Amino acid sequence: MLLRELPGTFKLSEVKGAGPKTAALLVKLDISNIADLLTHYPREYEDRTVITPLADYFKKKNIFAEAVVLRKEWFGFGRQRTLKVYIEDSSARASLVCFGRSAYLDKIIETSDKIKVFGHFYYKYGELQSSSFDLSSHQDAANGRALLPVYPLTEGLTQNTLRRLIQNALALCAEKVDDEIPAAVIEREHFPHKKDALVSVHFPKTEEEAHKARESLIYEELYKLQLALMRRAAARKKDAAPPARKSAHTLQHRLRERLPFRLTEGQEAAVGEINADIASGIPMERLLQGDVGSGKTLVSFMAALEIIEASGTGGTAALMAPTELLARQHAENAAVLLEPLGVRVAFLTGNIVSKSRRNLLAALSSGDIDLVVGTHALFSDDVKYKNLRLVIIDEQHRFGIEQRQSIVRKGAEKPHLLMMSATPIPRTLALTAFGDWDVSVIKGMPHGRLPIETHLARESNAAKVYEAVRKELHKGHQAYFVYPLIEKKEETEKKGETLSASLYAADLKDCTGAYEDLSKRVFPEYPIALLHSQIDEEEKRLIMERFRKGETAVLVATSVVEVGVDVPNATCMVIEHAERFGLSALHQLRGRVGRGPAQSYCFLMYIDNYTEEMRDRLLIMHKSNDGFVIAEEDLKIRGPGQILGTGQSGFMKLGLADPVRDTAILKKAREDAYTAAFERPPK
Ligand code: ADP
Ligand code: MG
Repeated sequence: MLLRELPGTFKLSEVKGAGPKTAALLVKLDISNIADLLTHYPREYEDRTVITPLADYFKKKNIFAEAVVLRKEWFGFGRQRTLKVYIEDSSARASLVCFGRSAYLDKIIETSDKIKVFGHFYYKYGELQSSSFDLSSHQDAANGRALLPVYPLTEGLTQNTLRRLIQNALALCAEKVDDEIPAAVIEREHFPHKKDALVSVHFPKTEEEAHKARESLIYEELYKLQLALMRRAAARKKDAAPPARKSAHTLQHRLRERLPFRLTEGQEAAVGEINADIASGIPMERLLQGDVGSGKTLVSFMAALEIIEASGTGGTAALMAPTELLARQHAENAAVLLEPLGVRVAFLTGNIVSKSRRNLLAALSSGDIDLVVGTHALFSDDVKYKNLRLVIIDEQHRFGIEQRQSIVRKGAEKPHLLMMSATPIPRTLALTAFGDWDVSVIKGMPHGRLPIETHLARESNAAKVYEAVRKELHKGHQAYFVYPLIEKKEETEKKGETLSASLYAADLKDCTGAYEDLSKRVFPEYPIALLHSQIDEEEKRLIMERFRKGETAVLVATSVVEVGVDVPNATCMVIEHAERFGLSALHQLRGRVGRGPAQSYCFLMYIDNYTEEMRDRLLIMHKSNDGFVIAEEDLKIRGPGQILGTGQSGFMKLGLADPVRDTAILKKAREDAYTAAFERPPK
């Protein structure tokens, strides 16, 4: 039977040692059945194969030493009476303090015995000591177990208890466990069978054996994940998309003619791939990746034009953005660029008032709109589409899988789906999580862009940064100042009333306070505006509009400007408390500048009492302008959940596997899964 089917036959209570008390403790480790127990994998192994001289005690957390017992001594009184065993090897002398097990150890240790001891040693009261140690028992030796598993524990449960439990569970049912990796792969890779891999991963005889067992279990996890993705992909290829008329790409050509610039090669390549998808008759599911500022929006407009042309009358494309600010910006761009081509553009958010909303909904349901732009309101229950042909999702990582699915269901037939990602997703991660999507990557940036200069500055050097910004403002350029908080009280309230939290928040600059300071003291000669999430939508719109038109010189904000905002005349991005932001967020923020022909600057300011680690992280921003490089670094620091965003990380509940570390295995698993799902090897 399969491992996950074991609990149907074997109860946890049948495992020797797993009484009700122990079972209650196991629950705290998320172990509620026998399969959970067997997949509670060791974090590491205690190596009892190599003898370390006592004098080298500092080289490892625990050492395995071989020594002779010099003498035994008792100290303390009554129930506190404790045995101390003095030992010696050729390098040093040490004492073992036998707290809590003196009587027992007194019985089994005799003077001039040769013992093997595994433990943590330290200097105390002028002598080398250990109070957390293990004697290597004869039983371990007899089992040939030189490597002992070290498990994640919970209070009340010891390594030894868990070891015994898992050993008993293995004895009870390991033999019954079937392979889940195809037999051919097991043979090709010289993998152990699952039943052996389970024993080896817990109680390996050698490092080599442990390694091979882990490798096969990692492969199995990734293979199963990829197989599910590939099966979905194979099924999708059988779905029919709404039929497409042959397109001469007339609308796309007309847009190209209207643009003051040429599409980059990368943009053209992506447009070509999308056109091919639309012509194929199979619903597109494509992730459009491109670094911030690479011009994804325009590619999505091109996709909309193609759908409008290919679907004849009544076909609608919908473009959804995560914030109203961004949706409005897209709608305004679409109006400027597409309406002159005869495209009927509409804008829909939750804030549109009732009368015009009713008209809009009527127009959508009768198919009188070609492109509708909006927030998730595009897919509320009362919105009906006559013929939804293409759904474009900007900043897709902001939406959960659920939301995406509810959107696709709005189409009578399955609409094409184009997802855009602002955070470049490292390839390894993209393969693991989105293995069944097609991916287009826009390579390269629009011509004539200068790389953004990034500077790090300590808070106490703020005046220098402000002067650098003033020079830019003087040239007629604009600047963003970004802060992690809206107001100080916000953070304090969130953290509760603890003193340290409020002190911490008191140290942190907020955008409301900074706005006061910047407008009154630092740049009194320039118009400054404040923008954050608690300002109402209409006001936000006006603020953004004034900034876009250049009427305000400085925009003080929280990370609301992180996503998508596009004002090419802005050349300075100042981020205070940069240490508070993730690398991907910093990269997004930085991407708000460098969008025009002028040189742009990003100033990352950090607290004076910084840690080296903090500074090293920010240095990555200084060294690289490449979103993919930064995302890889971010992935190493923060793990996949943070990068993929809402909902998508749940997908990544892997046990032993780590797609970043295990790329080589992932690649093989992916190819094998493809072959299994499509019944032919990948191209
Ligand atoms: P992102 O990929 O980050 O969403 P946008 O779509 O917002 O980027 O585009 C960034 C800016 O670049 C916009 O001002 C856009 O008009 C401009 N742009 C897009 N494509 C080109 C191009 N081929 N040449 C010059 N500028 C371009
Ligand atoms: Mg964008």
